[in-house]
Amino acid sequence: MCIFCKIVNKEIPNNTVLENEEFLCFHDINPACKIHVLIIPKAHYDSFDVTPPSVMKGLTAFTHQVAEKLGVKQSGYRLITNIGNDGGQEVPHLHFHLLAGERVGRLVGEK
Ligand code: 5GP
Ligand code: ZN
Repeated sequence: MCIFCKIVNKEIPNNTVLENEEFLCFHDINPACKIHVLIIPKAHYDSFDVTPPSVMKGLTAFTHQVAEKLGVKQSGYRLITNIGNDGGQEVPHLHFHLLAGERVGRLVGEK
């Protein structure tokens, strides 16, 4: 089972921001800026590349709720999803990084 599935199953603790039946948002263990959270479907999909559009629709609405809860709608935020080796994906379970709380650099995560 992947590490994020273990988080969903509460085998690994997490600092939850928002949760519903299908989706979970929690703080990244190694934040890249002031606010760095991860947004995932509870069901396992290896990456964005294999995630059905129907799931992305729900994830979009959930992400709007996360931005509201974090209070970053006005100030703005960045969403990133890494896909596969060249995308720099480390955890093989679809996740969006939401970065906020300060002006983020042009690129995040240099080589
Ligand atoms: P990726 O490189 O796959 O796009 O991002 C994986 C992210 O997951 C990284 O930012 C990393 O800090 C985070 N991460 C890895 N393991 C854990 C964990 O056990 N708990 C939390 N909260 N974040 C994790
Ligand atoms: Zn998983």
